[in-house]
Amino acid sequence: MYRKRRTRKRAVREIHYFISLALKPDTPLVYADRYVELARKLGMRARVSIPRGLKLFICRRCKRVLKPGLTGIYRVRSRPKKSVSVKCLRCGYTHRYVYSYEPEKIGES
Ligand SMILES: [Zn+2]
Repeated sequence: MYRKRRTRKRAVREIHYFISLALKPDTPLVYADRYVELARKLGMRARVSIPRGLKLFICRRCKRVLKPGLTGIYRVRSRPKKSVSVKCLRCGYTHRYVYSYEPEKIGES
């Protein structure tokens, strides 16, 4: 049990590391795609899902890296729902990440 938890923790850390490498501006696209592939494989092996914040940088359809401005277009939309829409420029797939934002109430607590 202890061992399992420990490897999962390590897997999450390594997923973060791989995706940060993939998103570095001077990483060639071929390498970046490979880093994303490795991160996904690692997650599957350790049975850890890729953190939501990092999923934004992986295309849902072709599973390749989405670099803002280079291979992906990011737009913040308020209608019909508050969301970030991400378009992959290599396969043309658009995914919408809906979010809800509750502003902190000033003067309370
Ligand atoms: Zn794609």
